[in-house]
Amino acid sequence: PTSSPEYIKIRHAHRQFTTPEGCSINALDDISLSIAQSEFITLLGPSGCGKTTLLKIVAGFESLDSGDILLDGQSIIHQPAHKRPVNTVFQSYALFPHMTVGDNVGYGLDIARVNKTERNKRVAEALDMVGLAGIEKRLPSQLSGGQQQRVALARAIINRPKLLLLDEPLSALDKNLRLKMQLELKNLQTELGICFIFVTHDQEEALTMSDRIVVLNGGKIEQVGTPDAIYHTPQTQFVANFIGESNLFEGTVINKTENGIDVNCNGLVIHSQDTSHEVGDDVELLLRPEHLSLTPITDQESPQAQLTMKLTQTVFIGSDYQLHGVLKNGIALSALTRKTNQPLIKGNEISLYYQISALHTIPPENKYNKG
Ligand code: ATP
Repeated sequence: PTSSPEYIKIRHAHRQFTTPEGCSINALDDISLSIAQSEFITLLGPSGCGKTTLLKIVAGFESLDSGDILLDGQSIIHQPAHKRPVNTVFQSYALFPHMTVGDNVGYGLDIARVNKTERNKRVAEALDMVGLAGIEKRLPSQLSGGQQQRVALARAIINRPKLLLLDEPLSALDKNLRLKMQLELKNLQTELGICFIFVTHDQEEALTMSDRIVVLNGGKIEQVGTPDAIYHTPQTQFVANFIGESNLFEGTVINKTENGIDVNCNGLVIHSQDTSHEVGDDVELLLRPEHLSLTPITDQESPQAQLTMKLTQTVFIGSDYQLHGVLKNGIALSALTRKTNQPLIKGNEISLYYQISALHTIPPENKYNKG
């Protein structure tokens, strides 16, 4: 099938709630977004940012105050939930406890009066797709949490929806199982070739699974992009802080040449290759901890720079060390580095090296420009 890049179009979606105390909350504040037909897209953001509200509106469990949602060119906002080609998987698997796995999975087909032979064939197929072939006769109570979530998935895909919504479906699982299920879900999505809209507040989960991530904050879109773009080139301070660990330096551009800019960060001048800012501009520089190294980076073509940090704390985290300290100008800095022979003694000054190309510039209060 051809994959339309605008299979789902959310247009200027607004939704306001009034709290019991009488305050108005913009749960969704002018959300516009296009999603492709076979895309794995993740809505990511802190609690209360509007993720679940957006998902419920797409599913038909909640309505819009204004705006529209188009699926394959047709507005769906006046269709009742059960008529939309959309299914939802929730955090709580909500299986019927007194019904067997087979009956739970086949439920949607029984409602649609699909004949028994076809129904049983498709139940077996759906269970096979989620790695649970042959367990039709069991009861949900005889399954582990991960298996129950797979059954819920099988039930959600059996009537071949065009769109699957997943609301924190892995958050009840322990870490190892969650990591395993993340990969399984991504594989399942690729195999089915349908669009998954996945909700999470877990940034690592979003980075692992998604084709694109939508970062929401206070009912607005902060940024939409591939995991790589969201991680390496955040457009706002919020995104830089929300995704991964970050060192952010505020400063003012004091010099500009064709090779880049010099930014005065509280007395420390840092050079950036970004030429999109002018002398006098306030900018924010992002340097990820893993881009700092205890040894000079010799095998790279890009020029490197050095920072001197007074070490305040060293944390061993298995493969790497987290180093925390302060720069001469009083700014805190964290680094994630491999151990070297260099002694790491609290209070000592250490040199940290980074490639200048690893620095990313964020204009302060930049609002992501929605298309
Ligand atoms: P979480 O990760 O905690 O589930 P979320 O990002 O999914 O959060 P939503 O559930 O979409 O956030 O809620 C967005 C905002 O709208 C929150 O401030 C929430 O309190 C508010 N809200 C949601 N539903 C209602 C409702 N029915 N009545 C009043 N306020 C609501």
